Amino acid sequence: MEYIDLRSDTVTRPTPEMREAMAAAEVGDDVYMDDPTVNQLQEKAAEMLGKEDSLFVPSGTMGNLLALLVHCQRGHEVIVGDNAHIYVNEAGGMSALGGIHPRPVKNQADGTLALDEIRAAIQTEDVHHTITRLICLENTQNICGGVMLSAEYTQQVGKIARENDLSLHIDGARIFNAASALNVDVRELVAPADSIMFCLSKGLVAPVGSMLVGSKKFINRARHLRKMLGGGMRQVGVLAAAGMISLEKMTNRLGQDHARAKVLFEGLKQVRGLKLDASPSSNMVYFDILDEVRLSVKQIADGMKKQGVLVDWAGPRRFRLVTHYWVDDAGVKKTLEAFAEVLK
Ligand SMILES: *Cc1c(COP(=O)(O)O)cnc(C)c1O
Repeated sequence: MEYIDLRSDTVTRPTPEMREAMAAAEVGDDVYMDDPTVNQLQEKAAEMLGKEDSLFVPSGTMGNLLALLVHCQRGHEVIVGDNAHIYVNEAGGMSALGGIHPRPVKNQADGTLALDEIRAAIQTEDVHHTITRLICLENTQNICGGVMLSAEYTQQVGKIARENDLSLHIDGARIFNAASALNVDVRELVAPADSIMFCLSKGLVAPVGSMLVGSKKFINRARHLRKMLGGGMRQVGVLAAAGMISLEKMTNRLGQDHARAKVLFEGLKQVRGLKLDASPSSNMVYFDILDEVRLSVKQIADGMKKQGVLVDWAGPRRFRLVTHYWVDDAGVKKTLEAFAEVLK
């Protein structure tokens, strides 16, 4: 059975074109920086984001960890959203592996950290305190609903960082979704940042990989640490070849996923027993199950699976549906019919 899979955009399988490019990819030993396809991908990613250099990494989690390790020493502190992936969903890597101390600041409903709260979280010089070194933003902000942070907001945070001698890292796992939804060049969203991580393996449909982007000096240090963490890969051009197609062909089609998320949202509003969050900003639709519905989220997910639709819950009474390349209009229609059937 071919399922409509809305659990995440990480489930995207490579396209036939990607598989062909992977099979035909020119490769070399990337630890020697000899893989022409990886080099091409790294140049392209840096160019698209308006930075000097970039590094292909196995996962977004490793990309974020490398950024933290380059920017911070042991005992340094990082200002980060309390709903940030880096804080909530990366297994505490910054403290376990880097001795870095997170300083969570509340994520507002729009995904931002309030500017005065960022300022207030910066440590003063005092023997009791840690040393603040870095601010992290997430764009789009996943847990807040796949919401975008604007270029203006990011500029303001960049200004706070510069004034206080801090670096700014953007967890831009879905930065191209943000650029598409805001209809701006992605360069504008990352201009104030010292480093950015984005994922090829989510809405951009590649099977594996993320990019870490920044200055030449930053990337050289990150390459060294990637080797230390065991992320120095060899003929990895076979994966970079898919990533090239992500950058060339997938970054400019994300609006379709966002449009389908809106159709899904409008349709689900008509289904009894659901309380929808605000209209989706990008490719994520979040909603709660009302108490009047006697089914658990697991029972609902099991029922949906029987109808051919895979969904994942995001809390005891909460779902997140994510649209992507492999969910077409028919898939959205089928999903709405399945919810109506399961909740009737
Ligand atoms: C998925 C994700 C990551 C990590 O990427 P992996 O490749 O799964 O390690 C980081 N940040 C955000 C916001 C994400 O959604």
